[in-house]
Amino acid sequence: MCGIFGIQGTPDAARITHLGLYSLQHRGQESAGIVAVADDGTAEQVRKMGLVSDGFEEDRIALLNGATAIGHTRYSTAGTSTIDNAQPVFVRFRGGHIALAHNGNLTNAVQLRGALEAEGSIFASTMDSEVIVHRIAKSRAASPEAQLADALRGVEGAYSLLVVIGTTLLAARDPHGWRPLVIGRLGDAWVFASETCALDIVGASIVRDVAPGEIVAVDAQGMRTLPGTPATPLHRCVFEYIYFARPDSQVFGGSVDRARRALGRQLAKEQPAPGADIVFAVPDSSNAAALGYAEASGLRLEHALIRNHYVGRTFIQPTQAGRDAKVKVKYNAVREVLEGRSVVMVDDSIVRGTTTRGLVALLRGAGAREVHMRVSSPPITGPCYYGIDTPERSELIAANMSVEDVGRAIGVDSLGYLSLNGMLAAVPGGPDGFCHACFSGQYPTQPPVDLKRYRSGV
Ligand code: AMP
Repeated sequence: MCGIFGIQGTPDAARITHLGLYSLQHRGQESAGIVAVADDGTAEQVRKMGLVSDGFEEDRIALLNGATAIGHTRYSTAGTSTIDNAQPVFVRFRGGHIALAHNGNLTNAVQLRGALEAEGSIFASTMDSEVIVHRIAKSRAASPEAQLADALRGVEGAYSLLVVIGTTLLAARDPHGWRPLVIGRLGDAWVFASETCALDIVGASIVRDVAPGEIVAVDAQGMRTLPGTPATPLHRCVFEYIYFARPDSQVFGGSVDRARRALGRQLAKEQPAPGADIVFAVPDSSNAAALGYAEASGLRLEHALIRNHYVGRTFIQPTQAGRDAKVKVKYNAVREVLEGRSVVMVDDSIVRGTTTRGLVALLRGAGAREVHMRVSSPPITGPCYYGIDTPERSELIAANMSVEDVGRAIGVDSLGYLSLNGMLAAVPGGPDGFCHACFSGQYPTQPPVDLKRYRSGV
């Protein structure tokens, strides 16, 4: 998963993009990058592994001149986590430069790459996104927006894109609308971001979403748009509302905070916990859902788990002992809140079950009498091919066991998930127009043909 940010029409473009990326850090922590383009078409880039805050030096940002910039925070879902795969992708071609920042996953990238390689293309990364850059360079269309439209014809899967061709900034969303992308205004400048929290940090106002299938072009002459044909129904990713986006953002035109509270209220209706004393969240992603659960159930909301905010992405051996240790480094339980109580723990999702198992052990260790787990989404039974980092079926605990067995495996006294219909009724703009393949198995497109190659990118 990734965060993208772009701006056109201000001399401070790179510095503002840098600021915007801070608010998109939750969408990807593996690498970050910025490309800035000056009016004469000269372009510069900075790319670094790691966080935005420890990724760039101010003096390097200051060297990035120009009225146009795009930036990216990366969490790899296709291709490996290396500096070669850090974005924006940045190349020189006959029309100047192309820079591209991509959020989403292309489902036919391996085939498209094979076709390009057969014609002699040489790739510098294992990212699916690089395919689009090659296709732009091959287009003979006159305008940058027509070149991007050419490049995207035949590309399948999820993409929200920010592209600079020459000195034109382009924004595009796939016709299914899988990933969010919003347009903002900052003085005379146009701003684009994955989430509105990145508009807030730079002081931009929200204009509207880039429409599914649309290509928006901005240059010194102003803004133009190629409308495109949205899919019916749309396949906006429901997991953005459940876990991924920040609660202070609007995505797909709806408030993430309101969505999560509604999910929590619906969960309380469907999965009450009679006899429980308190409810609490697994911080931070399920805070709003736990508030909703508390509101609808009448249970008192407590802070029973404390999250350590200074834990980076420390490498821990991928063994069970390593994973358990990881939970302890990240969370601790508050004995004074838990001792002798029957408690409801709300989390937004269970993926492998390792975090939950570790948390339940912490709660019991701190004296909880009964632990009832409530999850503000349905069981995850399949991988995501559209940009969320959900593992293969074999690693998904709920793909391989009944709900009762999952409950036993994670060590709770009871386990209750939100229903698919309850989830779709609770999210803004629901119940139609969402992708819920990871829960329902209803994949809107053909899954990638060769999964191993899809994951590795080559
Ligand atoms: P697990 O131990 O795999 O069951 O992890 C579940 C926890 O990971 C939940 O608390 C979620 O908030 C969080 N989570 C859900 N989806 C993802 C994801 N794609 N990447 C990282 N964390 C996630």
